[in-house]
Parts: sequence; C-alpha cells; structure tokens
Amino acid sequence: MQEGAKVCLMSPEQLRKKFPWMNTEGVALASYGLENEGWFDPWCLLQGLRRKVQSMGVLFCHGEVTRFVSSSNHMETAIGEKVTLKRIHEVHVKVDHSQEYQPVECAIVVNAAGAWSGRIAELAGIGKGPSGTLQGTKLPVEPRKRYVYLWHCPQGPGLEAPLVADPSGAYFRREGLGNNYLGGCSPAEVSSVGSGCRGEDRDRVSLSSQASLAGPVLVLMSRSPLALTWGLLPPSTTYQADRLKRPARPGSDVCPGQRKPCPHLCPQEEEPDPGNLEVDHDFFQEKVWPHLAQRVPAFETLKVRRAWAGYYDYNTFDQNGVVGPHPLVVNMYFATGFSGHGLQQAPAVGRAVAEMMLEGHFQTINLSPFLFSRFYLGEKAQEHCII
Ligand SMILES: Cc1cc2nc3c(=O)[nH]c(=O)nc-3n(C[C@H](O)[C@H](O)[C@H](O)COP(=O)(O)OP(=O)(O)OC[C@H]3O[C@@H](n4cnc5c(N)ncnc54)[C@H](O)[C@@H]3O)c2cc1C
Repeated sequence: MQEGAKVCLMSPEQLRKKFPWMNTEGVALASYGLENEGWFDPWCLLQGLRRKVQSMGVLFCHGEVTRFVSSSNHMETAIGEKVTLKRIHEVHVKVDHSQEYQPVECAIVVNAAGAWSGRIAELAGIGKGPSGTLQGTKLPVEPRKRYVYLWHCPQGPGLEAPLVADPSGAYFRREGLGNNYLGGCSPAEVSSVGSGCRGEDRDRVSLSSQASLAGPVLVLMSRSPLALTWGLLPPSTTYQADRLKRPARPGSDVCPGQRKPCPHLCPQEEEPDPGNLEVDHDFFQEKVWPHLAQRVPAFETLKVRRAWAGYYDYNTFDQNGVVGPHPLVVNMYFATGFSGHGLQQAPAVGRAVAEMMLEGHFQTINLSPFLFSRFYLGEKAQEHCII
C-alpha cells in the first residue's frame, strides 16, 4: 500500500457482504486488489517476448548447456581469504539428438535456467570451495514439483470469483466463463530447526507483496496465527461431500520442529518426487479439496477435469528471486529462484538485469536485497507468500 498499490482491507462482515458464497470462519482480515490485477496466459507472454526480441535481431541457439570454458585469477581478500575470480569465455551447447556441441563465445552469461539453474551454477564452478567461504557458497535453487487442478462446479461462485489465496495455502481462481476453476496448494514445508511452519509464515503475509499477485486478488488472513505438462485425469473424477475430510481445526496439530499448534493439515508432509511430472490426485483429495470446501461450501461437490504438474525454481534459502551478478564468476548474472512467482516478476527482473549488465548498477528498481551475496552473508529476503 505504501508503494501505491490499490488494495482495500475488509473485515469478515464486509467480506461476507461482498462474497456471500464464502465462509469467513477463521478470517481476521482480507486484502482485496482493486486495480492493475489480472491473470494471463504464460505461453502467450513468452511467445510475445520471443517474437519481439527476434524482430530486434536476437539469435537463438537451441540445445543443452553442458560446459563453461573460463579463465581464472587468484587473489587474496583484505582478510586474507584466498579467492579465485573466474570469467567465462565460451559455453558448450549440446545439440539435440546428437553428441555434437556448438561452442558459443560469450562476454556475459545470464543463468535463467529456472529449476535447473543450481546445476548450471555448479557447472560454472559456483559452490565448489571450502564450506563457509564465498567460493563454497552454492546457488540454493532446486526443482520442486507442484500441481495445478482444474475442476467444474456448477454451483460455484461463477463470475464473482476473484483469485482467492486462503491462509491454509490453498488458492483458486475462475477459469473461463463455464463454472470451471483452477487452483492448488503447495505441500507444507517440513521445517528445519528454528524455522517456522510455512503455514505460520502465511499468517504473516505482507500486504504489499500480495498486491502484486497475478482478475482481482483476494487474500485472506487467518484469525489465529497460532492456532509444465498437461495430464489428463483417467476419467473426470467427481468429489462429493461424503468423501470430504474436514481440515483439522486450529490447535489440533503440531508443526514439525515447533511446539506451537499448527492450524493446517501440514505435519509430516513431504515434497513430491521431482524425478517425474506425474500428478498426484490423492493430494487434491486430501490436501487441497478440504480447504477449498471449507472456504467455499459450494466446492463440497465438484468434478476435477484436468490436472498438471510443473517445477518451481525453488530457492531453499528464502524463497525469493536471485538477481544480478555472481561476485566471483564475474560475468555470470542470475535471474532465477522465484519459487513460484517468476512470471509476474519477469518483466521487472528482465529490466533490472539488463540495467545491471549495461550500467553496472540497478537503476529503475533497486533489487540489491536479491543479490547472490546474501547467501554467504546469511541475510534473508524472506518471501512469506508462497502458494
Ligand atoms: C504449477 C505452477 C504454477 C505457477 N504459477 C505461477 C503464478 O501464478 N504466477 C507466477 O508469477 N509464477 C507462477 N509460476 C512460476 C513461473 O512459472 C516460473 O517462475 C517461471 O516460469 C520461471 O521462468 P524462467 O524463465 O525463469 O524459468 P523457466 O520457465 O523454467 O525456463 C528455464 C529454461 O531453462 C532451460 N534450461 C534448463 N537447463 C538448461 C541447460 N542446461 N541448457 C539449456 N537450457 C536449459 C529450460 O529448458 C527452460 O526452458 C508457477 C509455476 C508452476 C510450476
């Protein structure tokens, strides 16, 4: 709001009045985006950008990056730490269906390899040094499999539905005009010692970042913080109220690594195997549908028509983007680690990386909290709004 986003905060009573199809139980406050919100087709956006840059003279070389050829300079820092500065001169691009590779000379490499960017960083020697040193600091980005489900519900909220992000982490929005809806939920984090259950993080959502989520966006905040492959479903699966497992009530579970009660269905959930893109339909029944039906009683009966899985480029350190140059591999720049929010941030990040490469500093927006060096310094730019 401080940055000028037009959002309004609504009490449960105001929420009920505006969206009578919604159960406001457990909601303390809702944030509703009033303008400049919307959803778009990612593939069209990508193709639009691609065609534009092609028209401007950009050449594409298709294949897999398998090697970097670089030169090194050994130096010693003011505190006596020995470091090796590297500059990449050539990239080997393996041609599809062939053992051949094409050497591509380069002045600058942008590591925008999404979920695989951690692997690309390793190829460039990043993180291959003694632990605790800058040289030994890895790019903490890895693939995390996430599902999206599309369901039909004739009694659903219809055209009135904005994109709704529930405190449980479940989200949905209308898809088209025919009472179809699209949504999902990330598996809850099995937290490491000292870090909170992600459900708890969700309760501390920052209004300004929520306002930038991809119609209108409605974010619900809980009353009690304590407490890309399309896969066709075998046949459409109908879910009816008698199969519904109600979400645990606040206080009935305990977060892993925490003594506090957790208001979500999260205890010992595990990340799905990222080795394939199969969709887990039980996940919908057990982890997504109960929250949807709790918030929108009409969703107690629905038919799942399609589902797909894709990879988040998940930054395990603070679930936020990594933008700008590497301090030691001096001509590798990052634009990765967006942990499920990369599309909406892509235009701004593209501009910021271009400015950094051409001018040596950020100009339009200062993205320095997202530099790689934060992993070494231990300075988190924690994103609390991962859905
Ligand atoms: C289920 C799901 C829902 C999402 N919902 C949203 C949303 O609502 N809003 C939002 O903003 N974002 C969302 N995202 C996230 C968004 O899709 C990503 O953040 C975004 O696609 C990242 O774009 P990218 O160009 O950085 O990476 P990608 O689109 O992953 O592109 C990386 C490219 O690098 C290539 N590559 C990898 N390794 C190599 C190699 N060795 N050599 C050559 N090429 C290589 C890959 O083939 C790929 O083409 C969602 C993601 C998923 C999976």
